[in-house]
Amino acid sequence: MSEEVGFIGLGIMGRGMVSNLLRAGFPVRVWNRTASRMDEVVQAGATAGASPADVAANSTIVISCVSDTPDVEKVVLGENGIIEGAHEGLIYIDNSTIKPVAARRIAEKLAEKNVFALDAPVSGGDIGARNGTLTIMVGGDASALEKVMPVFQAMGKTVTHVGDAGAGQVAKAANQIMVAAQMVAMGELLVFSKKAGVDPRKVVDAIKGGAAQCWTLDVKPPRLFDGNRNPGFKAYMQLKDLNIILDTAKEYDIPVSGTEENTRLFQQMIDLGMGELDNSAVVGVIEKLAGVEIV
Ligand code: NAP
Repeated sequence: MSEEVGFIGLGIMGRGMVSNLLRAGFPVRVWNRTASRMDEVVQAGATAGASPADVAANSTIVISCVSDTPDVEKVVLGENGIIEGAHEGLIYIDNSTIKPVAARRIAEKLAEKNVFALDAPVSGGDIGARNGTLTIMVGGDASALEKVMPVFQAMGKTVTHVGDAGAGQVAKAANQIMVAAQMVAMGELLVFSKKAGVDPRKVVDAIKGGAAQCWTLDVKPPRLFDGNRNPGFKAYMQLKDLNIILDTAKEYDIPVSGTEENTRLFQQMIDLGMGELDNSAVVGVIEKLAGVEIV
């Protein structure tokens, strides 16, 4: 295998993705802002890099998975960023969820250094990252995608080329419209059942095979019934994604009234100090409004 893979950002998602790249046999050089978070993957066979620039200089494919738009801009275009390690043939992949307009700008900047950029946000959560079953939606050059496909296949099970630079991030924003709506709907149905006097566990069992079936209803209620509201996907990241949707909707004059309402609930969640909890813990806001707890 001739590819050398670089990976920037060892958060909840990055750690699982790097483990799967190592398992697939890729040599992986990593960098994380908090250096101690590199220990676990270094023990599993990765090499610790000195900076994003160093990782890019020593890789043929360099991947980032960090929090938000300014963070991606920093690790790519900032001091000691990927752009400083750019070289002929390097392909850059961003698996973070950021604004489509920023993904296009980054692709243009890297193109000036003859580096192809693919915006390739992912869906499937911490479980998908750990199990290598992520859904990956890709914007950018088709020949670059073909070249990096084995890397995507090590991390995910569904890879779709949706269009040019930024298209992957548009698809991810669309995905997050649905995810936020599912989280809020699940929270409402659990509180609704409880306050109307029916065991929410029984309700979930009754409906999860019917028309309400979805990833959220499959995965989240068992965790919530166990009192587990740990991330997963942090609520403040969900709010970040909702704001990406609202910004993009404003840019294109798209009505998104349901998403505006869901954004208000997630904003309330953050205001109540629950931003580090899982996005499914939005049920906590609905519990407070209703004055009941689901367990
Ligand atoms: P996380 O656990 O909070 O990790 C965030 C990572 O980004 C950490 O490695 C952090 O470094 C790094 N980082 C943040 N700001 C940085 C900066 N300015 N410079 C350098 N590094 C920086 O988040 P996550 O859940 O892995 O999410 C990462 C991305 O994947 C996000 O865009 C998120 O929306 C997306 N995503 C997440 C999920 C999910 O279920 N968790 C699912 C799909 C997509 P430190 O360790 O130093 O803090």
